[in-house]
Amino acid sequence: MDKIFELIEAETKRQHEQVQLIPSENFISEEVKMALASDLSNKYAEGYPGKRYYQGNKIIDEIENLAIDRGKKLFGVPHLNVQPYSGSPANSAIQMALLNPGDKICGMKLSAGGHLTHGHPKITFSGKFFNSVQYDVDAEGKINYEELAEFVKNEKPKLIYAGTTAYPWIFKWDEFRKIADSVGAWLVADISHIAGLIVGGVHPDPAPFVDVFMSTTHKTLRGPRGAIIGVTERGIERDEKLATKIDNAVFPGMQGGPHMNTIAAMAVAFEEDGKAEFKIYAEQIVKNAKVLAETLKNQKIKVFGTENHLMVVAVGEGRGKEMAEKLEENGIIVNANTIPHDTAGPLKPSGIRIGSPAMTTRGWKEKEFTKVGIRIAACCQGR
Ligand SMILES: *Cc1c(COP(=O)(O)O)cnc(C)c1O
Repeated sequence: MDKIFELIEAETKRQHEQVQLIPSENFISEEVKMALASDLSNKYAEGYPGKRYYQGNKIIDEIENLAIDRGKKLFGVPHLNVQPYSGSPANSAIQMALLNPGDKICGMKLSAGGHLTHGHPKITFSGKFFNSVQYDVDAEGKINYEELAEFVKNEKPKLIYAGTTAYPWIFKWDEFRKIADSVGAWLVADISHIAGLIVGGVHPDPAPFVDVFMSTTHKTLRGPRGAIIGVTERGIERDEKLATKIDNAVFPGMQGGPHMNTIAAMAVAFEEDGKAEFKIYAEQIVKNAKVLAETLKNQKIKVFGTENHLMVVAVGEGRGKEMAEKLEENGIIVNANTIPHDTAGPLKPSGIRIGSPAMTTRGWKEKEFTKVGIRIAACCQGR
């Protein structure tokens, strides 16, 4: 056997033998996997359905239209682009559509749980080509909406991001809307982490409040690696050309040919996400995360969260990486993460981030999450 397939087999085994608690990861279904591995990977289809630059795309058009229709229904929006290669290029496309170089962009600080693509200074596309201003969270890791309102009134950004990678609390979309309206800013929700919770009905839906939303499709949505950009009714009311601007920014602005195997796999995942079983799955994700957080708190461990699928756990100043490695030795996979107002700095984070989506897919319930919580606590306390 080719070495690479031996390695793939070894990785599959690792994924199933260890406890996977990284909140951005999940396990896709066999059907999603089949679409990903299909001959659609062979086809070039630059453009959009009905407007392709290559011949031979009649079936491809049907596939992309099906993915779009299922996604629009799932998220209740009038326009959806399913071509972004992943979350980061989707955010770049949104910025290309709505901003000019040098315009002011506002996102949450990386150290507070924001994403690199939301204007992290200097080393990222969004931080280099735009004038970036960033907001923090309070000592409990929560957004202080009054302070954010003041910050935004002073800074007057043209675009505001609401969305993070390590925020264990519910987003108040209506507060974000009021704040964006106070300066006429575009409001973009990045729901990469929580999209599955939103369609599963266990987190409030941003669609009535934001102009644009984006999401990766491989986290709680449990689809292929990829991303979508949705334009809401509100966004189209504000600018009737908004959907066209977004589409043009994705192609030809940022990307070339769409990955049609990924888009077909999204269509499969969206169908799964709309089922009654998925609602039960989303509810169980939150129940499991709550039980895990309570278990750790009962062992006198400082936990930030949780109202969703993840929590940030303080493990001692600068000891996040060391603890993540120790847990790995015990077969438990998490990642080191800064805690709110981390005193050790971003290179030596003082926490770990833990999430329930992947193991919930594998059938874990409260009992298993309590057990793993006791083991994590024992590791953290050197027992
Ligand atoms: C994961 C994530 C992204 C980026 O997605 P990639 O597919 O890794 O590029 C963007 N924003 C948020 C909030 C994320 O959690």
